[in-house]
Amino acid sequence: MEFLKQIERKWQKKWKEARIFEISPNPNKPKYFVTVAYPYPNSPQHIGHGRTYTMADAHARYMRMQGYNVLLPMAFHYTGTPVFAMSERLAANDEELIDTFVRIYKVPERLLKNFHDPLNMARYFHEEIKAGMKEMGYSIDWRREFTTIDPQYNRFIEWQFETLRQKGYISQGSHPVGWCPNEGNPVGQHDTQDDVEPEIGEFTLIKFQYGEWILPAATLRPETIFGVTNMWLNPTVEYVKARVDNEQWIVSKESVEKLGYLNRKVEVVETLMGSQLVGKHVKNPVTNQEILILPAEFVDPKNATGVVMSVPGHAPYDYVALKNLSQEKAQLKGFGLTPEIIANIKPISMITVSGYGDFPAGDVVKKMGIVSQLDPKLEDATKEVYRHEFHTGKMKANTGKYAGLVVPEAKDKVKDDLIEENKAQNMYELLNKPVFCRCGTECVVKIFEDQWFIDYGNAEWKKLAHEWLDKMRIFPEELRAEFNYVIDWLHEKACARKSGLGTRLPWDPEWIIESLSDSVIYMAYYTITHSLKEHSIRPDQLTDAVFNHILLGVGNTNELAEETGLEPSILEKMREEFSYFYPLDSRHSGRDLVSNHLTFMIFNHLAIFPEELWPRQIVVNGSVLMEGQKMSKSYGNIIPLREAIERFGADPLRLTVLATAELLQDADFSPTLAKSMRERLERLYRFAVETIKLKAGETVEPPVLTTIDRWMLSQLQNHIRRATEAMDNLAVRKAIHGTLYELEQDFQWYQRRISKEREGVERKAAISKVFGEVLDAQVRMLTPATPHICEEIWEKMGKASFISLAEWPTRDEKKVDTQAEETENLIKNVLEDTFNILRATKMVPKKICYYSAAPWKWKVYLTALEKSTSAKITLNDLMKELMKNSDLKKMAEKLAKFARQIVEEINRMPEDKKQRQLQIGAVDENQTLEEAETFFGKEFNAKVNAYNENDPKRHDPKRKSELARPYRPAIYIE
Ligand SMILES: [Zn+2]
Repeated sequence: MEFLKQIERKWQKKWKEARIFEISPNPNKPKYFVTVAYPYPNSPQHIGHGRTYTMADAHARYMRMQGYNVLLPMAFHYTGTPVFAMSERLAANDEELIDTFVRIYKVPERLLKNFHDPLNMARYFHEEIKAGMKEMGYSIDWRREFTTIDPQYNRFIEWQFETLRQKGYISQGSHPVGWCPNEGNPVGQHDTQDDVEPEIGEFTLIKFQYGEWILPAATLRPETIFGVTNMWLNPTVEYVKARVDNEQWIVSKESVEKLGYLNRKVEVVETLMGSQLVGKHVKNPVTNQEILILPAEFVDPKNATGVVMSVPGHAPYDYVALKNLSQEKAQLKGFGLTPEIIANIKPISMITVSGYGDFPAGDVVKKMGIVSQLDPKLEDATKEVYRHEFHTGKMKANTGKYAGLVVPEAKDKVKDDLIEENKAQNMYELLNKPVFCRCGTECVVKIFEDQWFIDYGNAEWKKLAHEWLDKMRIFPEELRAEFNYVIDWLHEKACARKSGLGTRLPWDPEWIIESLSDSVIYMAYYTITHSLKEHSIRPDQLTDAVFNHILLGVGNTNELAEETGLEPSILEKMREEFSYFYPLDSRHSGRDLVSNHLTFMIFNHLAIFPEELWPRQIVVNGSVLMEGQKMSKSYGNIIPLREAIERFGADPLRLTVLATAELLQDADFSPTLAKSMRERLERLYRFAVETIKLKAGETVEPPVLTTIDRWMLSQLQNHIRRATEAMDNLAVRKAIHGTLYELEQDFQWYQRRISKEREGVERKAAISKVFGEVLDAQVRMLTPATPHICEEIWEKMGKASFISLAEWPTRDEKKVDTQAEETENLIKNVLEDTFNILRATKMVPKKICYYSAAPWKWKVYLTALEKSTSAKITLNDLMKELMKNSDLKKMAEKLAKFARQIVEEINRMPEDKKQRQLQIGAVDENQTLEEAETFFGKEFNAKVNAYNENDPKRHDPKRKSELARPYRPAIYIE
């Protein structure tokens, strides 16, 4: 362990001294620009963060080895509530948080007071995170580091917003937003506990008449108003009679405050229990039908108005609740109702949908075996019915003027008409509640008035985003649909708030641009940060015209130089550097940023830059579990990254997060796994040292390679091809597995095959050549994952430069040897067959004989193979063909017997195997087996002889040799 740590420190120091990751434009090399979402410095990074950054680093390192001039920069996101709210909670002496900081994050207690200033906290964790990234060996160009509160960056963001505004993408108006009532701020995903995006849905409140009062039933499916049979209220919760604007409503007590946030004037008149209304009648405003109010436990007073209309034909909840209620004789009696009354309430069928009867709700409930209205499966049932009706449903004749419409169309029309006739209103509500703000308060929806929004609802903009997404590479590909969904779903987003760190809106400076809006095009800023520092460029020199020039190519260098006092050469250099590195080639992040940041990034690039500068690729990875569990403060299973590096080493840690899961799967971390990875790397190192010693004794040049040597080198080419394909597709786990485990298995086989042969000088030279080639390729292919130990081995191999800058191995077609591969399969088969016989007979062998097939059998075999490539062969056809040969004709009986044996085998053989065997032709099995006599002898501890079945001198007392078939030598044991 100490040894690994020393290696890591040594190479981190050498990389830094040689400045190999400080990347500048190089006109002779193609560029590749990789970025990862910058971190919020509000806590130390843990292993979960480590995965995303390690993935990006591995990709950057791979592309570098593929010959690209790869830039991987890093910055720190001080903006907004993530940092600010954390600091406020500390200032408010939040004990849980203090405990987390001291016990898990190991922050010295005396510093906590300083953290009441968010800036101090951000600076502390900034350094902490940066140190961890260095200790992980990330190939970052640290010259380009910045924070989002640097005054120069503020100017960049001001330019971004001015540009968006001039192009019409900023709007001012009233829109629903997720809202923290405590702080009076809009909340997005990065402002909530557990990073939940508040999802806002639009309910329709349909106004059922109850005398002079209105019961506003909340529904997401207004078109089902024609199927309403009754009303549901929760008898055990409090409702209020209230004046809402100019009307008199009865709604749940919980909804009063929410209606206020939605800008309705609400004045409570009196409170009553739901039970007081049960048994009364209300009038359906569309059908004018009088319906009963019935009791239901599933009605959540916190959901919209707490008033629900019942559509048992099409809503599974309603169907089950009615069924349940008809059994509750005693309860019904209390309301003056009877089971018969309930039984008389019949579902109304008002939508036809293929694959279901008249009442889809009942169908699905029966299929899923749901009997209780509190069964969580009802959610799935509801979704299933809704999905089918939405996609294939049509309105029936009993829906009046909507008859024949498809459901999505009817939904909008009914809603619009009802609102128009004042029979309904809308109500925004969180669909995924409860969502809690970082300050601990439950979030609500607020109509945010006269505020600033980025207009992601703009239809033209959405269309463009879809079109560009089609052209982008998305890894994993299955996320493309999710991006399309998010693009459709996005609407106006509040882009500023009144508290926190960040950049002020240039035209309305009481507002600070929030953190998901000032982080969408900053990749461009990386291309110039080091120049800004190097030339001490002041923020006031970075006018909008300067950014227009550098980033959009607008304006005249000399004029700008004169206006700003900047050297023309510096302006030109920044313009050139931006033009060299942009567009962004690969953007990496965790999955949680798909629904916001990553999609915003696409939108904003499209708005601001010309098409040739739009981002090319997005890579999204899953998270990390800790021994099968979600990592969370409450489980106490968070290991900060630096602590993990200290315990397990950087390379083992990198390997663990990369090699245990494909991109989108969750990786499962455990200390045991990390330790086994460390041992695996230590074994690799010992093998390397041994190989290097071996190579030092090499004398014969060029060495003569035997079949097994050629086999190993051929397999190596296959592994190189597979690892390259995997890395090209960001399947890093697959690449590591191939390189570390599958290649290793082959290599162990090779060592097993040659171990007795090391004595001769010639063999020694050949073997050391094979060892050397395997090691060389293996170490290169592992470098993206475990760069430190690979550098150390590389140095031991006597290489002058860094392996980080070496080339990725390429498959050498000349070394691909199909024949060697097939004959080696033969050896493996013979070995396995012999072991099987020994196991079955419990013999202890003294002597083993192998008989390879006679040449005529090969002729039959290959003829059959050839005929079978176009279609299945029959024995008759094959015989007809073979009998044309006069030599074969003479031995018709033997021939028929043998042909019968192989027809079936060949018909079953996969096409590619047939092609390979045909390409190789007849194999000299006798020579192959003879070469392996020593190997077999050692494996079985017996004397082993190989013969051809035609060999008159063969030892064959049981006439076993007759059984020999191509690729299946006969075996005799005594
Ligand atoms: Zn809050």
